[in-house]
This record gives sequence, structure tokens and C-alpha cells, in this order.
Amino acid sequence: MSESGAFRTESSSGRRARLETLREAALHRKVLATRLPAAFNGRWTRRQWAHASLFATMGALVAAIVPGLSPDTHAPSLMPRTTLALALPALPLARLRGQAGDSWQLVTVQSGQTLSSLFDQLGIPAATLHRLLAQPGAKASLAHLKPGSVLGFDLPVDGSLRTLRFDRDPTHRVELSLLGDDVHEQVIERPTEVRTVVLSGEVGPSLYRSARKLGLTPSNIATLTDDIFKYDIDFNDDVGANDRFSVVVDQMWRDGELVGTGPVQAATFTVGGKLHSGFRFERNGKAEYFTGDGRPLKRSFIRMPIPYARLTSTFGNRFHPILGRMRMHEGVDFAASSGTPIQAAGDARVQFVGWKGGYGRVVILDHGHGYTTLYGHMSNFGKEHVGQRVAQGAVIGYVGMSGLATGPHLHYEFRVNGVHRNPLSITMPPPEPLGGPALAQFRAQTGTALAKIRSVENVIYADAAPIHSTRRGKKA
Ligand SMILES: [Zn+2]
Repeated sequence: MSESGAFRTESSSGRRARLETLREAALHRKVLATRLPAAFNGRWTRRQWAHASLFATMGALVAAIVPGLSPDTHAPSLMPRTTLALALPALPLARLRGQAGDSWQLVTVQSGQTLSSLFDQLGIPAATLHRLLAQPGAKASLAHLKPGSVLGFDLPVDGSLRTLRFDRDPTHRVELSLLGDDVHEQVIERPTEVRTVVLSGEVGPSLYRSARKLGLTPSNIATLTDDIFKYDIDFNDDVGANDRFSVVVDQMWRDGELVGTGPVQAATFTVGGKLHSGFRFERNGKAEYFTGDGRPLKRSFIRMPIPYARLTSTFGNRFHPILGRMRMHEGVDFAASSGTPIQAAGDARVQFVGWKGGYGRVVILDHGHGYTTLYGHMSNFGKEHVGQRVAQGAVIGYVGMSGLATGPHLHYEFRVNGVHRNPLSITMPPPEPLGGPALAQFRAQTGTALAKIRSVENVIYADAAPIHSTRRGKKA
């Protein structure tokens, strides 16, 4: 999110795709399940729905109790509520007019299906369709029906069409009623309600699938893995099927349908019994994620400019394979295939882009406070130029073997006040924590949120696995 720098968005899609594939591979990787949650394939069982209902109810409770977490919540959410509608396979139109014995039929538009084939299927004359399409505005909405959209047909016993209902846009539902020779149009506003919910689950066979099943968006999941827990959890090796996570998000609901999900407000991840947590807070108008005590989760530097790369040469004296003699290796080498994107280790100003002898194509970044990083042997540069600011994680170039190199790899150097240091072992400078009024405000928001996450987890996991007595060493 905040760290997706200009270069990442500008880099060629193929290369970005490669990086994505690596990340996806780690995310979708199967984990060894010691206790598989029931029915991970296919449809949810009744028990799981009941479960979801429980999460949702607790979520509603949070919405009522944690005002600080939901700045966008408007009046509707203040209305008394005991349960929360679920993202069940929605029958929103039926719900709107759900009397027994009514004459409404709901039709979901299939791919390749046209309006006239739909009318045909229901036995409604083409002339009726043409009368409806003659209504101003109707044609524009109905001509380009998307697969998956739902149309409502009010068809009394005589088989004639009384009313057609469709969604003109996300917030407006239109009813076209045939009254004699007239077509009467009614537009129904569909207000959006924002609800703050706690979504909680176990990692299971795949974190990605489990999180999607709970209702988290791909962007929410990327926030968990890339922004909040990247520095503390190794999603490649550390996470097991029984590890669990809880996420506080705002959900946008319309007529009992989930229509949108906001950014992650707070999240916990319990890995091997150790609880990690992160909270969203806006500092100087920019959203960042912080630990419970107000320290930024984003580190000043990432350790490896290439995610998931293999370290092939360490810092210090070594035999140089090309020069054929001992030589000080003033950086570390990561092997990766040619063209793999290289990320800026931290926020920086670009100091150098060009050729430097044996290092070939080199980028040097100045991170301020005496810190600089160097990236060598690139096959290609990113789009950066000297003097420009780049964000941590921005793609500044691509792995290659320019200069003196036996194969494609990144040569990476880390300097403090001009002195070469080992980037894998040096203590990185801590980012600036929250202080003063910001910290007080932050504490007010997060204390309650964490307590609510815990109470939701207690309810869910007590129910899911009777007496999970050890509570696995959670921080007090
Ligand atoms: Zn090297």
C-alpha cells in the first residue's frame, strides 16, 4: 500500500508479474495440516455458517463498542441491532419483497446471455421488452448486462410481466412497472451501511484461501503479508495450519449484501503461540501500521532487496572467483534469475545510476542520516533518475550479470557514514515512534480493538475446539 513506490507501478507488467508469482507462490503454498478444519473444499456446512454468524454477531458488538475504530460509520450503524446479515449467496431482491406466495422470479444473468434471450426463456413477448427499453435511461442500463447481475421479474399467474427490477448502479435500484399502456419508473435508493467487524480464522491449508473465505479482499491479505507482518513473520516457513489471525475491517453493506471492504484497521496473527499485532493509524495524513505500543511496523530497511532470494556470498574476506585471489567482499550476494526485480531497501534519494567498473550497472541510494545502499550487476535500471525520491520496496532495477560476474546475482552493499557494514547483521536504525497527542489518540483506539479481537477469538476458538486450554502463550 503505502510502500508501493512509483517505480513498482511503472515497471513492466511482465517483471512485476514475476515478483507477484514469487509472492503468490509463498502465499498459496500448502502447509502441513495437523488438524484440518472441516470442509475446506466446496460449500460451507451449516455449522460453518452458524460459525460465521457468530463472528458476525461479535463483529456487530465491536461496531457498537469501538467508536474510535470506525470514523466513517454514519447514523445507520447506530441503530439497535442484534445480529449482522451475512454474505450468504445473496437473494437481495427476494429479501426486499419476500412475502410468501409472491410472484417474483429472480434471474442471474449468465455469461453470453442477452436480455432478449432472458425474456424468451421466461416466455415474455419481445414487444414487452421493447416497451421497457423505450423508457428513457432503461436501454443504457439494460443493454450491457454483466454476467452475475440479478434481474427481478414480477410475473403474476397469467404470465404477463407486471414489473421488471434491476440495479442501475450500486446505489440505485430501478423498478419498471407496466400499467396499461404506460411504463411507470420507480427508483429506489439503496443506502450503504458501514459496519466494523472482526474476521477471525485459522490459516488452514492456505492462508490466502482461508482469508478470502472469511471475506478479506486480496488487498487486505497483501496488507497483512506485506505491510503489517512482513518483518516479523516468515510466511514461507513459519506459518502452520493451526496458526490463526484476526482482522478488523469496515464492511460496506447494502440490502444485506456485502458490497465493499475497507482497509485493515487492526490485525493479530498468532504464529507458534506468539501473538503479533498491528494497527492502522494516520500520521501526518498518511496511513501507517504500528505495534501496540506505537512503534511503526515498517522498518527503516528491508534486509533483502529481493524477496525470497538465496544468499550466495557473505560479507567479509573470500576467494574471488574471477580475480583468482582473496579479496574483501564488501557486500552480500543474492542469486536470482536475470530480470528479477530489485527493491529499494528503504525510503531514499537516488544518488547514482550508471556503470561502475566490475560492479557493472549500479544504483546507489542515499537514505539520509549517513546511510547509503548500493546495488550492482544489474541487467537493467528501473525508471529512476539521480535526485529523485524512491519509496521502500520500489523497483529500482533488475538482476543481471553486468561487470565482473560469473552468473546473474545482486551484489548489495550497506554503508554507514561511508563504512561498509554487513546488511544481514547490522542493527538497523529504528523508525520514529508515535509520541505526544498522537500516541494518546492511538492508544485510545487500539486498546479496545485488541481487547475485542481477543474476546472474539475466545468465543470462536472455544466453540471450534472445546477447551483450547493452553491459549498458547499469548502475551498478557
Ligand atoms: Zn558481491
